[in-house]
Amino acid sequence: MTSYALVNISHSASNKIKVCPACGQASFLGRRKYCSPACRQRLLDKLAVLTGLLQALRVRYATFSFTPNTLVLNMVIWGYGPVYTFLWERSLNRKPSEDLMDMTEILGREWWREHNERNSRHQACLHIMERARTGIVGREQVRPLSTQSPKVNQRHLTVLAISRSQIAGKNAKASVKAAFRRQAMRHHPDLDGSHEVFLKVHSAYQELMEWVKHPVMTRKTGLPGKWTYNGRRWIPPLTGMRLAPGQPG
Ligand SMILES: [Zn+2]
Repeated sequence: MTSYALVNISHSASNKIKVCPACGQASFLGRRKYCSPACRQRLLDKLAVLTGLLQALRVRYATFSFTPNTLVLNMVIWGYGPVYTFLWERSLNRKPSEDLMDMTEILGREWWREHNERNSRHQACLHIMERARTGIVGREQVRPLSTQSPKVNQRHLTVLAISRSQIAGKNAKASVKAAFRRQAMRHHPDLDGSHEVFLKVHSAYQELMEWVKHPVMTRKTGLPGKWTYNGRRWIPPLTGMRLAPGQPG
């Protein structure tokens, strides 16, 4: 199945079809994020090669994403300056990782040729950056964001019909209690509710009250729909890639 299939699939009712953020193929992934560990590794290996070029170019932050037709590499250099964007046309029937390898090799060769001819790192960098476009995205769209969210089992939140932001809020205790009262009323066995569901509601309530007493947060870094380079390593997209043409990536 090619990534073009997503155009049709995105209109289907199933939400189990996801796009692998490493190869862009749409398939039934269930709870998995990638189509296989090998697929993820294949892209990470090529991103590691790209990192060498980014270091030569003195890049502070970068993002990498792709559509069926184009690779998109945004780069911010240390200090001030615009976002440099490379839009690289993809080849037919090749994986994004293969196209990325081509792009990295071609740009890398150009960098070295210019470096050897002029005997200047700076001139080599300027030469490469002249090929990029500027003004397509702002710096804030390239820098990876760090967000915190409560480390709780999603199942408990679903059972009590309460959101992650509610339990992280100021009135967390009251919110959990109110949510419990609502669901307990609905599912109480004395009111023709299911005993089994009521037990789940009660257990979710206990778990969430325990969390409110001793909150633990998880930190997530990155950007939705894009791989992000933070100056040291590549971070996977926070949420899935959207590859249908016309959708922002
Ligand atoms: Zn894949």
